[in-house]
Amino acid sequence: MDRIELKALGKINLGLDVLGRRENGYHDVRMVMQTVYLYDQITIKKRKNPGIGIETNLYYLPTNENNLAYRAAKLLKDEFDIKEGVSIGLEKHIPVAAGMAGGSSNAAAVLFGMNRMFGLGLTMEELMERGVTLGADVPYCIMRGTVLAEGIGEILTPLAPMPRCFVLLAKPPVAVSTKLVYERLDSREIEAHPDIDGIIEGLKEEKLSKITSSMGNVLERVTMEEYPVIEEIKNTMKEGGALNAVMSGSGPTVFGIFDDRNLAKTAAQRIKEIQLAKQVYVVNVHNARRK
Ligand code: ATP
Repeated sequence: MDRIELKALGKINLGLDVLGRRENGYHDVRMVMQTVYLYDQITIKKRKNPGIGIETNLYYLPTNENNLAYRAAKLLKDEFDIKEGVSIGLEKHIPVAAGMAGGSSNAAAVLFGMNRMFGLGLTMEELMERGVTLGADVPYCIMRGTVLAEGIGEILTPLAPMPRCFVLLAKPPVAVSTKLVYERLDSREIEAHPDIDGIIEGLKEEKLSKITSSMGNVLERVTMEEYPVIEEIKNTMKEGGALNAVMSGSGPTVFGIFDDRNLAKTAAQRIKEIQLAKQVYVVNVHNARRK
C-alpha cells in the first residue's frame, strides 16, 4: 500500500462541563462528544525522500512539527523506525481554531492511516494511547461517534447514538484561543453546570427533545462575553426553529440541532444574509465508530 485516503471528521460538544483544574494546568472535564459529517480530506503517500512533508490548501497552517498531522506521523515513524518518507495532503474544510477539533481529527486520521499503510499492527486502544500524547481530543477522534469523555478528555465511554437530526454549524469570523478561554474560566465561579446526565438519559431513551433541552457548555459564557456574535447566532438559530443552539468546545462555532432539514437550510441562509458568519453548513451526525 503506497497511498491511503482518509476522512478526518469534525466534532461538536453536545455538552461540555468543567469539574476542576489540575496542578499542571489541564482541566478535568465531562463532555458528550458527537462526530459530524464535515471533514478534512487526508491523503498519505509513501515517498523516497525520507522525512515528512505536509501540503495544505490553507496557506496559514504550519507545515512543520507545529502541525498536529506532522506530529502524528513523526510519533509513529520514530517509534517503529520507519525509514521511508511520507507526504501528507490536508484538504481542510473543518473551520480552524473553531472548537471542532480539526487538528486533533487530522492527527487521529494520520495515526489510523499510517498504522494500516505500514502494517504496524496497533489496536485501536494502542492508537488512542499514543494519540493522547498529541492532544486530549485525539483519542476521541480515533474512536468517533457519541461518547462521554472524562479525565482531560481521554477517558472514553461509548454512548447510545444520537437520534436522526440535522446540525447547522456556523463559525463567525473570530479566532478564539482555547488556552485563554480556560484561563478566564479559572478566574471565576461556575454558576451553572450543563446537564450532562440529562443528555445521556435522552440518548438512551432516543428522545431528541430531552437531549437538546439538556445541552450546554460551561465555556460558552466566557467566549460569548468577548464575542456577542455568538449569542446572535444562537438566537437566530432558535428563532429559525432549532430545538436548541449551543457553542461547541471553546468556540466560536455554534451548532443548532434541527429535526427538519428545510428549517436548518433556511436558518443557514439567514445567518449568511445578515452576515453573522460565512462558514455555515448543514450536516448530518456520524454515529459509526472506527474499527
Ligand atoms: P479544539 O476543538 O480541539 O479546541 P480547534 O478547532 O480549537 O480544536 P484546531 O482547528 O485544531 O483548533 O487548530 C488550532 C490551532 O492549531 C490552529 O491555530 C492551527 O494553526 C494549529 N494546527 C496545527 N495543526 C493543524 C491542523 N492539522 N489543522 C488545523 N489546525 C492545526
